[in-house]
Amino acid sequence: MEQELRQILSEIGRRVWQKNFVASNDGNFSFRLSEDRVLCTPTMVSKGFMKPEDMVIVDLDGTPVNAGKRSTSEIKLHLYIYQQRPAIKSVVHVHPPHATAFAIARRELPKCVLPEVEVLLGEIPMAPYQTTGTWEFAHSIAPWVRTHDCILLTNHGAVTMGQDPFDAFYKMETLDQYCRILLLAKQVGDWNQIDVQGMQDLMRLKERFGLPDPRSPEALCDGGMPSQAAAPDSVPSERFVPHSGPIVDSPKVAKTTATTPATEGTASAPWPDDVRRIVEEVVRRMTN
Ligand SMILES: [Zn+2]
Repeated sequence: MEQELRQILSEIGRRVWQKNFVASNDGNFSFRLSEDRVLCTPTMVSKGFMKPEDMVIVDLDGTPVNAGKRSTSEIKLHLYIYQQRPAIKSVVHVHPPHATAFAIARRELPKCVLPEVEVLLGEIPMAPYQTTGTWEFAHSIAPWVRTHDCILLTNHGAVTMGQDPFDAFYKMETLDQYCRILLLAKQVGDWNQIDVQGMQDLMRLKERFGLPDPRSPEALCDGGMPSQAAAPDSVPSERFVPHSGPIVDSPKVAKTTATTPATEGTASAPWPDDVRRIVEEVVRRMTN
């Protein structure tokens, strides 16, 4: 089971590298093995050329529990997500160029533009800038971590989370594709909003998919817009001002009790049923 997970993370690495979501040794992704163990990608290795044996297992403090390669300092972002979202099993953090362009320009992503983005991702917030690898960086997503699966990171990149590694990766693909389409749309004219009726239909669709969305279509779409004329909200908002200071009351990270390092490559505890089910489902999708 652990070997299959290592192969799955290697496969995600090849795909993010092929999609140009990472350069050099950028990016990291992980899978929650159990309550206190996380399998993650190594630091200082190109994600396009990882081998299954390169993966690292860490505890919830980020301390490696197997010998071999080291994990990234950005693992703190993953650990914070796992602490805040018990149902999340996998996290992907990369620097996809089109999404990162918006994160650098500090432009809020427009809403009510593409149906699949509204259904699969919903609102996409932008977390304030913090120095990479710090707990302040991990906590920069605090206002949204419990309610959003896809978050832009100011002047840095993006992070997505999901039920398995491919779920998180597909959300990242959808995000960067969306940002790419927005940039292309700007070249041929502008982006226009789906009207309130259309958004109400999408919200009903989300309900049926078991993805209830508390957002109000009326507030989101600003009353819709005429089919041809440019509406005020059809251009990127300048209103968003990312926070520049530290988050005062960001949640404290729970410390785990000291653990005895496991011997290399062992997984002594039986695999939880949910992890087994996720791996079997992902392997089935990869081989079909
Ligand atoms: Zn990064």
